[in-house]
Amino acid sequence: MDDTFLAQLRCPLDPKREATLAREDQHLVCSRCNCRFPIKQGLPVLVPDEVELPPQTREVSQLPCQRAANREKNRK
Ligand SMILES: [Zn+2]
Repeated sequence: MDDTFLAQLRCPLDPKREATLAREDQHLVCSRCNCRFPIKQGLPVLVPDEVELPPQTREVSQLPCQRAANREKNRK
């Protein structure tokens, strides 16, 4: 996985696909919501089912990436 490829990836929990991901050993970490996605056999597994939530976060809906989307929805 090279840097150019990594730079194109976005957090799958961000409906607007704006939050970038940073590599950390065998994980990709979202720059906005801090959730972690595993890298398996060199490939990032960017699916919500595989997410590791940050400490103190119990539900995906509490993450900043998701909350930003919900706020926008409520405004309409
Ligand atoms: Zn995120």
